[in-house]
Amino acid sequence: MRPEILFPLFAPVTSLAGVGPRFGKLLADLAGPHLADLLFHLPTGIIDRRYAPKVREAKPSQIATLTVKIEAHLKPHNPKQPYRVRCRDETGFLHLVYFHVKGDYLTRLLPVGSTRIVSGTVEHFNNEIQITHPDHVVAPEAREQMPPIEPVYGLTAGLPLRIVQKGIAVALGRAPELAEWIDPHLMAQRHWPGWKAAVTAAHAPQSEADIPPTTPARQRLAYDELLANQLAIALVRAHTKRLPGRAIEVPGRLRKQVQAALPFSLTHSQRQALAEIAGDMAAPNRMLRLLQGDVGSGKTVVALLAMLDVVEAGAQAALMAPTELLARQHYATLTALAAPAGIEIALLTGREKGRVREDILLRLGSGDIGIVVGTHALFQTEVAFKDLAFAVIDEQHRFGVEQRIALSNKGKGVDILVMTATPIPRTLMLTAYGDLDSSRLTEKPAGRKPVTTRTIPLSRFAEVVEAARRALSTGAKIYWICPLVAESELIELAAAEARFAELKKLFGERVGLVHGRMKGAERDRAMEQFATGGIDLLVATTVIEVGVDVADATVMVVEHAERFGLAQLHQLRGRIGRGAKPSACLLLYTTPLSETAKQRLAILRETEDGFRIADEDLRLRGAGEVLGTRQSGLPEMRLVDLAVHADLIPVARDDARLVLARDPELSNERGAAARVLLYLFARDLAVGYLRSG
Ligand code: ADP
Ligand code: MG
Repeated sequence: MRPEILFPLFAPVTSLAGVGPRFGKLLADLAGPHLADLLFHLPTGIIDRRYAPKVREAKPSQIATLTVKIEAHLKPHNPKQPYRVRCRDETGFLHLVYFHVKGDYLTRLLPVGSTRIVSGTVEHFNNEIQITHPDHVVAPEAREQMPPIEPVYGLTAGLPLRIVQKGIAVALGRAPELAEWIDPHLMAQRHWPGWKAAVTAAHAPQSEADIPPTTPARQRLAYDELLANQLAIALVRAHTKRLPGRAIEVPGRLRKQVQAALPFSLTHSQRQALAEIAGDMAAPNRMLRLLQGDVGSGKTVVALLAMLDVVEAGAQAALMAPTELLARQHYATLTALAAPAGIEIALLTGREKGRVREDILLRLGSGDIGIVVGTHALFQTEVAFKDLAFAVIDEQHRFGVEQRIALSNKGKGVDILVMTATPIPRTLMLTAYGDLDSSRLTEKPAGRKPVTTRTIPLSRFAEVVEAARRALSTGAKIYWICPLVAESELIELAAAEARFAELKKLFGERVGLVHGRMKGAERDRAMEQFATGGIDLLVATTVIEVGVDVADATVMVVEHAERFGLAQLHQLRGRIGRGAKPSACLLLYTTPLSETAKQRLAILRETEDGFRIADEDLRLRGAGEVLGTRQSGLPEMRLVDLAVHADLIPVARDDARLVLARDPELSNERGAAARVLLYLFARDLAVGYLRSG
């Protein structure tokens, strides 16, 4: 249960007095549902109102605060015209300009003959000075109601700054003093303020120097978020470790049989990864391991060999892919590889229906089937295993935690291996998973040719078409990617369709198209034709699936490459260069390129090392964007800027461990404070694991 001291901060933002339901909803969309969320919405800059010139000296485009006398109200005859209020000081006059004025509030706000302090952006218009819709108008005796410096916040369409400021002011007013959860030595060493002082300071910047993430107040708040995150991870991990696992240890007869029949030998990192997985499986605890490696680095083979050990032990293994297409592809690969050992593999997706499906379910229940490959269909309640012991999850960022749990609930002590082709920088790994065990495939399988990457301005489009023509004439297959060029999926689609039509005119029927709006079966058919020969040039929006394997595709053209993230381009490029023939990737960009975009494209020309690219990506873009937080399953960080606060991560991890080692139930004084911290960051679920232990 949430501690009582936090109740005032967990009132819904929609309940804020003076904000109203419409703005309340927008506030919730912007920052989150509770007042506490507003506190975590930090200013992005300041408005400085200290510039207080005389009217005649007021410089255009500056925010100025002027003391003026109200001379006259110039009401428009036509309501479409602006309402003007003429004011002056001893040096000259200016107009306050208002649009869409209703009622008489201006006559009350600005009575003729009175003195007012007005603040807003100065405009010079037809040789006159004016301020349109001043931000503030106050009487001289109410001067202190107008802050000389105001925080500016990120907004959302339709939500005025003053509403956000107001909501945050209310939240700050309700913020209690909280007992300290940070180690006192660390506080002293870093000169950090206490929690309440830190949030208050963060929302009351006195100059631009108070905005960057490096200020003591912001560092402290970032640390809070990291500590809450590390505590939560540690609690969940401790909980998982307590769950009974099982030890699987076999001579490896099946694995050796399959390995001997492979048309290649395993790379060093594949062997290493297998040894690490086998070690985990042999241990009596549950395994939760991440297998990272670029597309084509050979993860699937590793997974298969590990699954064979499970089958040899008389239990079952499942491999789950995020899409139908990938499931089918894995199925085909695994079936071919496992055939020499006489191992049968089953496929279960949404498309297996009727008799076929019945039969698979029956044989999963009886234990006849040792290895099954599938999609989300594997989660369905009718799917029951005789003895599921090992689950492999491919491309994990598309699966949520709940789904992972759902799958592991289908067996007893299920070991889990998560495979991902998105290399995760070390800092992000720690943030997302704590010390989740991980194996990395760092080499390309032998025999692969490097991909030559070139960057070309779109103005040289004709050359690209010629290059495509030459490649096609030598029998090459080409991916042609049209990315997100507009906000709307429909416009994006129109762009891809236009390119498709144009290329079709040039190259005829051998040009195909796949995009996100196509039905699954239709899309699969186009991919199939691309793989088998009917289509040689495939225009695609970014839907082409991670991991899709068309080994003899050797050319990739990416339009608007500057709009992609590095990791994403790297992923895309991973779809070529899979066979023995040399491959080329042409990155088309529109000028002018930003400095960051230039660096990004340069890195892609330089290297194919996914781990190096991931680190560079983090450096260039900041963590939030690296994987697309939401789809990556990474926790959303609101106060942490991983590029800046990275050094705090290991500190938070060590501290979280220490706190829990000394006080596993979080029951002493600091433990209780840490509990409040967890609730403050809405890690209620993690706190739940305390008691079940
Ligand atoms: P990933 O799942 O990492 O994208 P796969 O396991 O699908 O990669 O492997 C891609 C291709 O490379 C497959 O055709 C696979 O048979 C082949 N392959 C895997 N390991 C090796 C290796 N050590 N040497 C040569 N080819 C390999
Ligand atoms: Mg794969």
